[in-house]
Amino acid sequence: MEAADSTPPSDLPVLPSISQLDLARSSLRRELVPALGFAGTQQHLTHVIAPALNGNSQSSRYYGFVTGGATPAAVFADKMVTDYDQNVQVHLPNETVATDVEAAALDLVCQLVELDPKEWTHRTFTTGATSSNINGLACGREYVISTAAARNNTKADVSSLGLMAAMRVAGIDDIQILTSAPHSSLRKAASVLGLGHDSVKDVSDPTAPHRLDLEALENALQSPRAASIIAISCSEVNSGLFATTGKDMVQLRRLADEYGAWLHVDAAFGLLARILPSDEPAYAQLKEGVESLQLADSIAADAHKLFNVPYDCGILLSRHLDVGTAVFQNPGAPYLNAAAGSVPSPLNIGIENSRRFRALPVYANLVAYGRSGFVNMLENQIALARGIASYIQSSSVFKLLPEVESGSMDPLSRVFIIVLFKAINSELNDTLVKKINATRKIYVSGTKHAGQPACRFAISNWQTSVEKDLAVIIDVLETVSSGHNKQ
Ligand SMILES: *Cc1c(COP(=O)(O)O)cnc(C)c1O
Repeated sequence: MEAADSTPPSDLPVLPSISQLDLARSSLRRELVPALGFAGTQQHLTHVIAPALNGNSQSSRYYGFVTGGATPAAVFADKMVTDYDQNVQVHLPNETVATDVEAAALDLVCQLVELDPKEWTHRTFTTGATSSNINGLACGREYVISTAAARNNTKADVSSLGLMAAMRVAGIDDIQILTSAPHSSLRKAASVLGLGHDSVKDVSDPTAPHRLDLEALENALQSPRAASIIAISCSEVNSGLFATTGKDMVQLRRLADEYGAWLHVDAAFGLLARILPSDEPAYAQLKEGVESLQLADSIAADAHKLFNVPYDCGILLSRHLDVGTAVFQNPGAPYLNAAAGSVPSPLNIGIENSRRFRALPVYANLVAYGRSGFVNMLENQIALARGIASYIQSSSVFKLLPEVESGSMDPLSRVFIIVLFKAINSELNDTLVKKINATRKIYVSGTKHAGQPACRFAISNWQTSVEKDLAVIIDVLETVSSGHNKQ
């Protein structure tokens, strides 16, 4: 991304020091009186709070979670969002252009990831992928029950009857969410929607648990008096691996149509793999993981991750505006009626009524950097992830995860922006994340793999530079592994 040349902030601290944190915590104001006034508050925020915030966005060496960063164009736009403080809920074309900007931004997102905006009629910005998952599953819940009812020659919708009555009318006892390696937010979404954590059922391939087992899935779809939502983990958060291939998607679409199921894709950060050049063999595995996503019913994505806009911003795309409108219509508030037009009022197609103008930073990013800027940014991130993976692969101390049988395809070619690994020595492995983060030069997240502690890098910042960052990372890994060589 061209903006990378103008700012070299990767040397900003990854984390504040413990003493900065202690000082800030002990200096927090706990009483309303006396008020500090604006100038005093500016001082307080600048000198006490800011130094104790982490570098998840500002540093290119923060590899925890999947946080993304914020490009200069997005930061500029986000400040404007605050200054103008638009409430983007009702389409009011004679009063503000905000809803049109949102619609244009969503069109550009579709263009970028090669999904036809004419087909993806229900598009909205959310607060993040969790919210997008709730939104997508809410649409799925509505669809599978009304489809089951229609197949029983009756009518039922959750939006008017409520879940229990609609299920009774439709002759459904159970709604199941069939998935592999789901993000935790999928279970949360199931709870919020009255389906329950236990409705999320694992139908993964036992030999490759990130992948859907289509046979197990079809068996589950055949359960009597059950309605199903299929949820695809499109780049799983621990390993970055993809649940499906293009061929699977064709098969899944056929199964979904046959059994009246809804096909939801959680592509929080996986979606951007669609922008990678198809003529580059090094990306073939990644491209396969996002192939034929246009066959899904709904797709959840995050903008505050790989799109590199500030928190909080997610995306929901669905091909069923009628379902989205049935679920989210804000009823009986004539003062919120919009002008009829081509842009649906956001309050009738998403969870929130009053909403931040979070479309603007996405719009600014896409306008500023275009396709080539985003491709460059992602290629840099993948190159760093693969640089780390390659170092780990050649190391006698660490092991790249998930393990692959020897002789199978080059494991580097499946690395997207996440590198999952462990230390071979279990004592080192138990303290690995702590030791890496204690250097405060880089920051990684701990997780579990096959029941054992594991460590992961997530590369998601626009400032990523293989040249500058890889040496620092290798230096840290060498330091924490010293004394453990040749176990
Ligand atoms: C991050 C993530 C989520 C949750 O997104 P939030 O933006 O934190 O709400 C859901 N699914 C996947 C695969 C993710 O990586």
